[in-house]
Amino acid sequence: MNIQLKTRSAPSTARLLAGKISLVTGSTSGIGLGIARALAEAGSAVVLNGFGVASEVAKTRDQIASEFGVEVGYSAADMTKPEAIAEMIATTISEHGRLDILVNNAGIQYVAPLDQFPTEKWDAILSINLSSAFHTTRLALPAMRKNKFGRIVNIASAHGLVASPFKAAYVAAKHGIVGLTKVAALETAEEGITCNAICPGYVYTPLVEAQIDGQAKAHGISREQVVHDVLLAQQPNKRFATVEELGALTVFLASDAAASITGTALPVDGGWTAH
Ligand code: NAD
Repeated sequence: MNIQLKTRSAPSTARLLAGKISLVTGSTSGIGLGIARALAEAGSAVVLNGFGVASEVAKTRDQIASEFGVEVGYSAADMTKPEAIAEMIATTISEHGRLDILVNNAGIQYVAPLDQFPTEKWDAILSINLSSAFHTTRLALPAMRKNKFGRIVNIASAHGLVASPFKAAYVAAKHGIVGLTKVAALETAEEGITCNAICPGYVYTPLVEAQIDGQAKAHGISREQVVHDVLLAQQPNKRFATVEELGALTVFLASDAAASITGTALPVDGGWTAH
């Protein structure tokens, strides 16, 4: 039999997501902001979310809109409050008529031994890092199902795959979000919707900056020693991942090329979880 293989040149990645609407939780800073910028660069309108000074948030919106020529919205919804999350999703869908790409990124950290872990910190981490993604996902799914298209990207962590001491709530929440990712993928597999988790090792952001100072004081060592010997001790490539790398992976997962990738937990950790 003579089988002819048709080859096509690779599509341009420049405006891969033109016409799409993306919502990124916790995108006033760090990884979420990097991902929102990458989605905007790929042509998607974006709705930002997170805490921040009003004038700074307005500046960020203007900057992304003018740099990439897309609409940029903002919701101040607190991810610990299910009613605020419901309002954020409802407003996004009513204003844009759709929600194509949902990135669950908002997250906080707290480090303490298990028997001294403050219960209010446990509750806050579980609610921001895990339960908020349950709420956004359950509320976004009907609109995605209607359009037979959806991309859900959960920013988990290497701590969604392996544990470290003193991070009980964070590790539990991140393992939880990897589980939620798999369930969402299975329930939507035939509907043009995918759900994947990205599992970064250390990425240099304000969340990590806070840990550098904390660890330097706790161990009585320099910031450089904290970075090399404590934070990156488990990360074989000895470098922080960048928010641009995570943005590029999110754009790929949101693209048509990733239609068959669902239910995965993708490490971006310089080899950490290969140990
Ligand atoms: P960051 O502190 O720079 O940003 C966190 C964002 O979440 C901010 O926009 C903040 O306003 C928002 N946020 C916090 N509490 C919120 C709430 N209650 N409601 C709404 N928004 C809230 O942190 P980051 O390092 O960019 O982390 C982002 C995500 O990536 C987190 O889920 C984190 O666990 C994950 N992560 C980070 C690293 C890292 O090394 N930085 C590694 C693996 C995973």
